[in-house]
Amino acid sequence: MDLPVDPRRTLPSVDQILGWPLISVLVAQQGATLVKRVVSDELALLRGQLAPCDPDALVENIHRGVTRLLAPSLRRVFNLTGTVLHTNLGRSPLPEEALQAICAVAGGASNLEYDLQSSRRGERDSHVEDWLCRLTGAEAALVVNNNAAAVLLSLNTLAQGKEVLVSRGELVEIGGAFRVPDIMRRAQCRLHEVGTTNRTHPRDFQEAISSRCALIMTVHTSNYVIQGFTARVPEARLAQIAAEAELPYVVDLGSGSLVDLSQWGLPREPTPMESLAHGADLVTFSGDKLLGGPQAGIVVGRRALIERLRRNPLKRALRCDKLTLAALEAVLKLYANPARLAERLPSLRWLTRAPADILVQAQRLKPSLASWAGAHYDVSVRPVMGQIGSGAQPVEELPSHALALTPLAARRQRAGALKRLQTALLALPTPVIGRIHDGDLLLDLRCLDDDETFVSQLRAAPLP
Ligand SMILES: *Cc1c(COP(=O)(O)O)cnc(C)c1O
Repeated sequence: MDLPVDPRRTLPSVDQILGWPLISVLVAQQGATLVKRVVSDELALLRGQLAPCDPDALVENIHRGVTRLLAPSLRRVFNLTGTVLHTNLGRSPLPEEALQAICAVAGGASNLEYDLQSSRRGERDSHVEDWLCRLTGAEAALVVNNNAAAVLLSLNTLAQGKEVLVSRGELVEIGGAFRVPDIMRRAQCRLHEVGTTNRTHPRDFQEAISSRCALIMTVHTSNYVIQGFTARVPEARLAQIAAEAELPYVVDLGSGSLVDLSQWGLPREPTPMESLAHGADLVTFSGDKLLGGPQAGIVVGRRALIERLRRNPLKRALRCDKLTLAALEAVLKLYANPARLAERLPSLRWLTRAPADILVQAQRLKPSLASWAGAHYDVSVRPVMGQIGSGAQPVEELPSHALALTPLAARRQRAGALKRLQTALLALPTPVIGRIHDGDLLLDLRCLDDDETFVSQLRAAPLP
């Protein structure tokens, strides 16, 4: 009796496959190294199976594998989580003006560090400094990679080897790896905690001041609130205490907004203008939180201090690239006309959308989602609460409306059904990211401004 032939013996070699006409075309287009990698992976898969090798299927899988490797990893998604400035989803969307500014400089040479008036070497931050000063009332400004970098640079420049006084109620962890005590250490400063978690008084700061101190700092407690029996030292009082001791006073605002958001019915977020008016010497804030611009860390304040920050070699390591500066300049110029800001700045447009408007959109999109989801899910329109995100006003909620998908399966199968739903939404050409809440998958429509793509991709890929 013949033994069956081991199908693995019949597998072609990598070099044989690279010579197949349909594969050699691929090699010419994408390079031998990449295609070889995919061919080896496919052969390894086949070696693990006992089925005979089908050359047509193999060619198709190799083409597919190459396409998959070359597809962009960083992609557009629909943020339907209800958190507008979602750190994991890239925070603020950029306005058209910023996209154009990026395109204008991205593909060629630019005057990034070249002064076209004097034909001398220029300063990269000069493209945004005047606008930052104009908008905040500061004497000077500089920009780095993000606000964590702005805090690091400020601490290291002004207080290396010395103490920094911070209230115990402000030893913030922002999420990710930003914790005030850690940043202090990395900036080579000694954190001197003052007061207690819930109450800190002016005399706590006054008693802590010594010749070892170099700086007093306020950290905006952006992602939590301390309620009840509390006391904090107002910025103006702390600025006065710092000035009497001849110490600089730095405020880390986190989000910081360049306009009063309450004019649009949003919760008030402190502004750098207010901190400066209170007497802060430096204020740091993010570019991609409420400002609505690119990822950046902005420091505004006294010229002499900003100059010291600029001369720190760390500034070179933390600086922004030209694309960021191009986008930031364009965004700052939108603030020249606050009356049109809510229509031109996408983050503010999303934040200020009326719940009634979102409700109309939800009702309009419901039939498309229902026909996509088929018979196993109920689709309904539901009032929900979203949030600003990125630590801005964590307890204030944004009333909105969501399309809710509820599995009709038996109770113990619902978790699996929700998971499948989530996977299918993430597999769409523009992945749809919602949130699971109380047995439903919620799609908060506040940040959906491309209904057409949303609907057409549902139509093209019905839920299996
Ligand atoms: C968000 C935040 C930071 C960090 O800012 P990034 O721009 O994310 O680096 C620092 N401090 C406070 C108070 C914040 O809210």
